[in-house]
Amino acid sequence: MKRILIIATGGTIASTADGRGLSPTLTGRELAEQVPLIDGLCELDFIQPMNIDSTNMRPDDWLGMARIIRTGYDGYDGFVILHGTDTMAYTAAALSYLVQASEKPIVLTGSQQPMANPFTDAKLNLYQSLLYALDDASRDVAVVFGGQAICGTRAHKQRTMSANAFTSVNFPALAVLRGERIIRGVGLPGKNLSAPIFYDMLDERVCVIKLTPGLAPTIFETLKPAYRAIILETFGIGGIPEREGASFKRAIFDWIDAGRTLVITTQVPEEGLDLGVYEVGRAYADHPGILRGGDMTTEALVAKTMWALGQARDADELGRLFMAPVNHDRTS
Ligand code: ASP
Repeated sequence: MKRILIIATGGTIASTADGRGLSPTLTGRELAEQVPLIDGLCELDFIQPMNIDSTNMRPDDWLGMARIIRTGYDGYDGFVILHGTDTMAYTAAALSYLVQASEKPIVLTGSQQPMANPFTDAKLNLYQSLLYALDDASRDVAVVFGGQAICGTRAHKQRTMSANAFTSVNFPALAVLRGERIIRGVGLPGKNLSAPIFYDMLDERVCVIKLTPGLAPTIFETLKPAYRAIILETFGIGGIPEREGASFKRAIFDWIDAGRTLVITTQVPEEGLDLGVYEVGRAYADHPGILRGGDMTTEALVAKTMWALGQARDADELGRLFMAPVNHDRTS
């Protein structure tokens, strides 16, 4: 019989109401006991590194989860992480970089309604996550939620209340789940025969700026003491404002000349970036110090930049790590 390790971290799925607002109190084992459908599917073990609203999840916690997976890797056939939905896409992306080429599935799930709610989505999500983790064709990090399996680097929380909370951005869902059936797309790579690669370093000094009309370029100077990298969400396919008295060009090139990293992406959720199209983006298109986000999600860009900064010894290595696709994170 296969063995799965459930790593329970909290979130709505584990939450109960005490009059002060929902907060996680139930353990992974208590949650599994509420889902009789999973009895006999596999051997289950539980580990509870924390029980928190995922609002409070930090990069250190991602490293902790990766360590648990590394320690248990040989003893289990797969891992199911119970997690709050609000930052699940960040954790899924981070684990995609921290545990690469894993032939054992690492599945994140949670729910929009607490387990005790009569209309909860928690039971089906937990059941289908286990089915997905037990399936021989599953591998690498994925979010299983609302009847879909989404690649860990492509998930984005799109809805605050509905059961189909997540979308797969710029990449097809890995599978659709209907009851106990897993219906997969075709053509995804099979199992790796090599060992997974584990990483244990992140540099969390990464900040996201979303351009808004009127934003002052001095924001770059303000952020200099605390951050090594900025991810800039530009307008449309890649527009950055340039007006008299408010030069982003100067602010951005000063930032890069100071040895900092700039990642340019778009604030439009779908179809990605192309800095070559408009004059308002061209100045940045071929600058060697600028990393282009392509069609990656902002969640994956945050995690990948932290991971690449944590590994790289110089700007060249940073660029190489950043541009190489990992777990389908970018279309090359
Ligand atoms: N605030 C909750 C969390 O992210 C939301 C959820 O789990 O759906 O932990």
